[in-house]
Amino acid sequence: MLDQYNRDIYYLRIAVTDLCNLRCTYCMPKEGIKLKKHEEILSFEDFFEIVKVAIKLGFYKFRLTGGEPLVRRGIIDLVKMLAQINGVKTLAMTTNGLLLPQYAKELKKAGLSRLNISLDSLKPEKYKEITRGGKLEDVLAGIKSSCEAGFEKTKLNAVIVDGFNDDEKDNLKKFAEENKMKIRFIKKMDLKSGDYYGVEGGEGGDCSICNRIRLTADGKLRSCLFSDYEVDVRQVGIEQAFRQVIGNKPAKGEKSLKREMIEIGG
Ligand code: SAM
Ligand code: SF4
Repeated sequence: MLDQYNRDIYYLRIAVTDLCNLRCTYCMPKEGIKLKKHEEILSFEDFFEIVKVAIKLGFYKFRLTGGEPLVRRGIIDLVKMLAQINGVKTLAMTTNGLLLPQYAKELKKAGLSRLNISLDSLKPEKYKEITRGGKLEDVLAGIKSSCEAGFEKTKLNAVIVDGFNDDEKDNLKKFAEENKMKIRFIKKMDLKSGDYYGVEGGEGGDCSICNRIRLTADGKLRSCLFSDYEVDVRQVGIEQAFRQVIGNKPAKGEKSLKREMIEIGG
């Protein structure tokens, strides 16, 4: 569906949960975020209906994100439900990888097309620090199991924080190549100040060719990462919510003050 600036919007990023098994410093505040009530969170049936309407409006690329999508109970069933919908050309997932040893094979079997795995450092201490407690060996095991499960064209996402891990870019690139993966460097963004940058090694960050909107786990469609404008699919109705959000997609992002990255899905 075209927006008012003639951009074709065909890519929906779906946050399936706002819970996570890590607490990355750039993504959530130290004290965490306010937990939502169970009934506020969209059900699998809601996601199914939303994706069907999205397809009717011209969407064909979907990505499950979060929070950490693999901590949502029943995630394999959700992938199965969405992957079999006629018109879903790509169903990808962005994950921190920790639970991939448990789930990679099932995800592949369920019809997931591709994975993006987040990896900011190859130094255990730094990984632990930036994720507030994560173990590097766990994500490395996750990466290995994604290969064993047969996932191809996996991308690694590294958030680069100047003065912290910018010296690791060459090593991360080498690691990606050794694993037949591509690496995307995403300079740490700040929703509150509106600081954002282009993605090195991938799409994203160029507003003039933006093709995406986002759905939060509590059912709000968002026109832009850097805007507080959102429409509640349950209040307004799914199709109308899509039309409003695409119709009001700004030419360029500014700031987002009301939500943290963990709630929007990156
Ligand atoms: N938990 C999953 C993961 O970490 O891959 C998916 C959700 S996470 C919010 C999605 C992506 O957003 C991750 O690649 C993460 O590194 C990125 N991200 C989170 N906060 C960011 C920030 N402040 N600047 C740039 N990227 C960020
Ligand atoms: Fe969790 Fe992903 Fe945010 Fe890290 S970036 S806190 S893994 S949602």
